[in-house]
Amino acid sequence: MKESPKSLSVIVPCYNEEDSLPALFARIEKIAQDWPEQHEVICIDDGSRDRTVDLLREQHARNPQWKLIVLSRNFGHQSAVSAGLEAASGEVVAIIDADLQDPPEFIQELIEKWREGFEVVYAVRKKRKEGIFKRAAYYCFYRLMKSVTEIENFPLDSGDFSLLDRKVVDTLVAFPEKNRFLRGLRAWSGFRQTGVEYERSARFAGEPKYTFRKLLGLASDGLFSFSGVPLRLASYVGLMVSFFSALGALFFVVQKIYPGPFQAMGLPIVPGFAATIVTILFLGGVQLLFLGVIGEYLNRIYTEVKGRPEFLVAEKLGLEK
Ligand code: UDP
Ligand code: MG
Repeated sequence: MKESPKSLSVIVPCYNEEDSLPALFARIEKIAQDWPEQHEVICIDDGSRDRTVDLLREQHARNPQWKLIVLSRNFGHQSAVSAGLEAASGEVVAIIDADLQDPPEFIQELIEKWREGFEVVYAVRKKRKEGIFKRAAYYCFYRLMKSVTEIENFPLDSGDFSLLDRKVVDTLVAFPEKNRFLRGLRAWSGFRQTGVEYERSARFAGEPKYTFRKLLGLASDGLFSFSGVPLRLASYVGLMVSFFSALGALFFVVQKIYPGPFQAMGLPIVPGFAATIVTILFLGGVQLLFLGVIGEYLNRIYTEVKGRPEFLVAEKLGLEK
């Protein structure tokens, strides 16, 4: 067993979380004495439009172990976490949500696993307290990811709630990628990884800040940045359609040259409007679908090539160097 870590950073991305923050402050302060003496809680304000920044400022003034990064606008959860990872200085770094769905008390258990020698300890959701539709969508997504991505041991049902060793944080921060799907990069990075089960609570207050669109964006970032399977699918479907088209073409050519046997079988040569229109529509659909798939990759390549920063920091409190 390793000794307890010398320092701990906790990263909390916050987007319009004024209703949850007071409870978060209280919950963490109650247990922080069990954490390494040298710890910091880095809250990232991801362009909130409510009182989130004010509350975080007050908290920093009350307790300088609470630090603050204000992003210049809403960049999304993954970018907010990246900003936190970049600023964190702890020997181990934990990532949690601001809405208390990830119990801060559980960080202690993650640290225990780290002491056993794991560099990545991620929390696995035992039960979700969300609607049936969302649960089903998550269930399918994680299994799809596992089957089509190049990541070995992609953990099922684990989000960003995790504890990372300094080594892993340094690696992740150094990735030049802009479309970040952190739980994928985390799994991809290798090292010694393990999961610990926990019960995911319901959101403490307020509405989920991940809208359906944002979730869809996150899911497609995960899929497209870790798998070439959708592109390969285009080749397979193309190949199959070409094969059947060739068979069909052969049939019609033969029918044209030797109409006799076909007529005897009761297959007259008809001006085939229906067959033509169905074929055209079908092929049009397949082509558009895969143009879309190519577009997904192209769009990501475009973003990466532009090389714009993943987020912009407007202000830092307690983190000035
Ligand atoms: N969040 C963020 N930026 C966003 C959306 C969400 O920083 O654009 C934060 C949010 O404040 C919360 C965490 O990401 O701390 C998870 O968001 P949410 O609870 O809405 O997601 P869910 O738990 O429903 O997956
Ligand atoms: Mg939540």
